[in-house]
Amino acid sequence: MKNIFFPSYTIGEDAYASIPSICSDFGSSAVIIGGRTALEKAEKSIISAVKNSITFTDSLWYGGDATFENADKLLSCPEVEKADMIFAVGGGRAVDTVKCTAEKLKKALFTFPTLASNCAPVTAVCAMYHEDHSFRGVWYRSRPPYHCFINTRIIAEAPSEYFWAGIGDALSKQYEVTFSARNDATDYVCSLGTELAASCSEGLLQYGEQAFHDIKQQKATEAAERVIQNIIISTGLISNCIPEDYNSSLAHALYNSHVGIPHARLHLHGAVVCYGVLVLLTMDGQLEERNRVFSFCRKLGLPSSLADIEMDKGPIEEYLDMALSKPDLRKTPYPVTKDMVRQAIMDLETYGKTCQNC
Ligand SMILES: [Zn+2]
Repeated sequence: MKNIFFPSYTIGEDAYASIPSICSDFGSSAVIIGGRTALEKAEKSIISAVKNSITFTDSLWYGGDATFENADKLLSCPEVEKADMIFAVGGGRAVDTVKCTAEKLKKALFTFPTLASNCAPVTAVCAMYHEDHSFRGVWYRSRPPYHCFINTRIIAEAPSEYFWAGIGDALSKQYEVTFSARNDATDYVCSLGTELAASCSEGLLQYGEQAFHDIKQQKATEAAERVIQNIIISTGLISNCIPEDYNSSLAHALYNSHVGIPHARLHLHGAVVCYGVLVLLTMDGQLEERNRVFSFCRKLGLPSSLADIEMDKGPIEEYLDMALSKPDLRKTPYPVTKDMVRQAIMDLETYGKTCQNC
């Protein structure tokens, strides 16, 4: 027996107008939990959109990072206990913390992303961290949140670098999933996920530049809306269809290694992952696709060289050793060695230097 859940969502500048009709079947009270900035941006709009159809027991800060400790603190709040529903508001870490709390309390969960940077608002998986902010591992809910309300006005007004990095992270889905799943016989749902993944980058490469241009001007245009759905929904739909081992590969292994190098820590997740995508495509010999993604990265200012992620003077051997030890590389279609990754990094450097107008 298998339960399959696909993302259910509402998108638009007026997305919150649908809250009463979609949530009222689940109860009459809710607690809002989220990031500080996110609450500032979204709370009033949520409350005014529901008018008097839902009462709010409280509005709470999620605690600052996606940790089990923060999720457990929220469990014991009487205002959370009292509410029929939980509304998770914010970016990936806030949403993942609240996903964990809601699952433990068996309460209906709805998500309100205030950034378009990942698929956390529509997936069952939670990326959890230690209290020192290092990565702890993934934890699975029994199902994704019931519904996601994507207010494109709020997303357009958020700092544009999160959208920029979100594009970089979403680009990894196609190449990491198809690489991990290559040659495998998979069941219906997993095949559906890998088939969707095989065309996941198309919308990003086609509309990404226009969308980023529009978002920088805080405009929630059609291109922006399309890419927001690519970042949150396409990647989430794929994630919900495939096993954990297919979900990430070399690009995320390089990111997870990169966070271990102190001077490089300030780069956004999606930006470093995007660099890793270029290394993966180079190593795998998909050079035509690599060149396409490379020119896209150059146009958007996404990292395409070691210098862009502050690794040109960095401890490259240590970086490679750490990357090779990451669980992201558990499932590969052929053994990936340190020499292969080092060579791909060097080949990518050469390509970048010789290709000034790419
Ligand atoms: Zn990622």
